[in-house]
Amino acid sequence: MKFKNKTIIVTGGARGIGASIVQYFLDEAAVVYVIDKKNPTEFNMINNENLFLVTGDVTNNNDVELFISDVMSESSSVDVLVNNAGILRDNVIWKLEEEDFDAVINVNLKGPWLMCRAVTSIMRKQNSGRIVNISSRSWLGNFGQSNYSASKGGLVSLTRTLALELARNNITVNAIAPGLIDTPMTRNLDPEIFKKLENTIPMKKAGHPEDIANLVGFLASDEAKFINGQVIHVDGGKSVGASIH
Ligand code: NDP
Repeated sequence: MKFKNKTIIVTGGARGIGASIVQYFLDEAAVVYVIDKKNPTEFNMINNENLFLVTGDVTNNNDVELFISDVMSESSSVDVLVNNAGILRDNVIWKLEEEDFDAVINVNLKGPWLMCRAVTSIMRKQNSGRIVNISSRSWLGNFGQSNYSASKGGLVSLTRTLALELARNNITVNAIAPGLIDTPMTRNLDPEIFKKLENTIPMKKAGHPEDIANLVGFLASDEAKFINGQVIHVDGGKSVGASIH
C-alpha cells in the first residue's frame, strides 16, 4: 500500500489507459480524483469510497481551477498528477482542418499545461510532488499525425522544462510514451488497420492499459525519486527501429 491515503489526480480517467491508472492507485489505497469530459454515469469503473469523479474539460481553465479547488477542499495535499486525457484527429496534412490541429493541441498540450500550472503552486508549497505526463511514441513522428505528434512532442518538451523548474522543490516530472495500446480510442480504428499496426510492432501485439499504469505507479513511487525529466517508451520495441520479422 505505497500510496495509502495519498492524493492522486488523473485526467481523462473515465476509460482506457486513464481508468487503468485510476484502478492501480485505488488498489494501492490512494484517494483518486478524476476529471474527464464524460458524465460520471458513463465512467467505466465501479464505485469506490476513495474515488471522486468530476465532469470537466482540461482545456478550460475555469474547469481546471474549480476542480483543483474541489480537490483541496477535501484534501490537504496533491501528491501525484497524471496528465492522461488526450484525443486523436488523424489525417495527412493536406486533408487536415485547422480545427483538428487546434483541438488536438488544446487537449494534449494546453490541457496538461493548465493542470501543471494549477497543481505546481500547491506542490511547491508542500515541497514535494510527482507529475507523470502521458505522451505517445508518435512524438518521434508518425505519418498522418502532424497535429498529434506535435502535441505529444510539445508535451515531452513541457515535461523536460518543468523537470528543471520544479526539481528544487522535490517535484519530479516525467513522461511515458506508449505505443499502440488496446483501448476504446484505438478500437475505434478499422480492425484491419489495428491488425496492421500490431504487425509493425517488434512484439507483434498491442499493449494493455495496465502496461502503462504499472509504469505510472513506479514513476510516482519513492523508488523513482531521482528519475526526472525523462521520457520512457512502452511500445513493444517499436521506437527502437524497424524489425525485419
Ligand atoms: P481514450 O479515448 O480511451 O480515453 C481518453 C479519455 O479522456 C476519455 O474518457 C475522454 O473523454 C477523455 N478526454 C478527452 N478530452 C478531454 C478533455 N478535454 N478533458 C477531460 N477529459 C478528456 O484514450 P486512451 O486511453 O487510448 O489514451 C489515453 C492517453 O494515452 C491519451 O493521452 C493518448 O493520447 C495516449 N496514448 C494512447 C495510445 C493508445 O494506443 N491507446 C498510444 C499512445 C498514447 P471523451 O471520450 O468523452 O472525449
